[in-house]
Amino acid sequence: MDGTQQVVIIGGGLAGAKTAEALRDHGFTGTVTLIAAEAHLPYERPPMSKSFLIGASPFDDALVHTAEWYREKEIDLRTGTRAIALDTGRHRVGLEDGDEVAYDKLVLATGSTPRRLPVPGAEASGVHYLRTREDSDAIRSTFGPGRRLVVIGGGWIGLEVAAAARGAGTEVCVVEAADLPLSAALGPELAVVFADLHRANGVDLRLSTRLNAVLTDGGRAVGVELDGGERIDADGIVVGIGAVPQTGLAEAAGLAVDDGVLVDASLRTSDPDVYAVGDIANHDHPALGRRMRVEHWAAALNQPSVAAAALLGGAERYTELPYFYSDQYDLGMEYIGHSPEGSYDRIVVRGALAAQKFVAFWLDRDNRIKAAMNVNVWDVVDQIKHLIGDGRPIDPERLADPGVPYAEL
Ligand code: NAP
Repeated sequence: MDGTQQVVIIGGGLAGAKTAEALRDHGFTGTVTLIAAEAHLPYERPPMSKSFLIGASPFDDALVHTAEWYREKEIDLRTGTRAIALDTGRHRVGLEDGDEVAYDKLVLATGSTPRRLPVPGAEASGVHYLRTREDSDAIRSTFGPGRRLVVIGGGWIGLEVAAAARGAGTEVCVVEAADLPLSAALGPELAVVFADLHRANGVDLRLSTRLNAVLTDGGRAVGVELDGGERIDADGIVVGIGAVPQTGLAEAAGLAVDDGVLVDASLRTSDPDVYAVGDIANHDHPALGRRMRVEHWAAALNQPSVAAAALLGGAERYTELPYFYSDQYDLGMEYIGHSPEGSYDRIVVRGALAAQKFVAFWLDRDNRIKAAMNVNVWDVVDQIKHLIGDGRPIDPERLADPGVPYAEL
């Protein structure tokens, strides 16, 4: 790739902005066009359900870069612009306003969109989803003492919103289909920590429960009816029942898609001139020996450097372990690795589960660490990453003993 060539990036979230940054960092001097559907400069989404949602940080703190940075780096950032067509044969991207942009190499960073609630009444006003800055503003406006919020889904969005709402004095009821919140991600042993945390903070947690309907009055949501027939009044409803990767452009263009856009370990799609990063990338993970698609901030942050290098002719591969973090009330946590419910043999806890200050390790049957979560314990992720990457069996008793330094494990 030389200075006469053009790279187009579709998607103005963290993954798109980081791809533009990585192209310049790797020395690419050609044209970089970043097509962003939202009207804002690219921003990070974690604060939308955490510090920005509770009003503790301004929106500008979430920006990936300032407007000046894009100018200095000569990134042609087109905000408020939606790509609606992809012609891989002609190497052209069609925009909503009728314009077309030519590319030599293309990066798809279209992210995901909230799964819609499939019950009667769900289209009423007052039913919120959380993805954008506007969503976060709208949800914050439902908070306050004496107000009642029903949260559908006890996943990451549901629990972070519940914590933010309780912090603002809101009455909160969380309706979760599974028998524990976060059970698919963490398994029952650790999911119960989050159930206890929310109950201790006054959340009315309804588990193994689904909705029959959103109750409406004049087109406005006023509550929900649960599957047992019980009705719960609400001033606002937030839905966090998962996300769907936005693969429409890729599919229509004939790229290989199967739970996300299929890419190799260098994040290259079935078309050698097209790459995919972030939520939509279903990639080969050489270190884990399997395919995975990770809907978390760290993938959007770290995959672009690999995609940009590969696109410019390098042989980089994405080998980072999945990583994410969450803040709820006075509990802060980080999770590294991959060990969903059903995939581990045992859990070892180092520290005090009841005091919510511990590191939990998910082990396979050979006592190899697959994942770990540090709760209110800090500066351990690099050491844990090393233990997971090392891949050798570990003595569970020494692992559980906080007196044994990580370096001696
Ligand atoms: P999520 O983490 O997948 O959680 C969705 C939850 O809703 C699951 O517990 C699911 O239960 C439950 N559910 C599904 N359908 C339901 C229904 N009809 N009624 C009640 N409960 C239902 O998804 P999310 O919280 O919506 O978050 C969206 C995306 O943003 C995810 O990819 C998430 O990882 C990401 N995110 C991450 C963070 C973070 O890393 N801190 C924060 C916010 C968002 P089942 O498992 O039984 O289906």
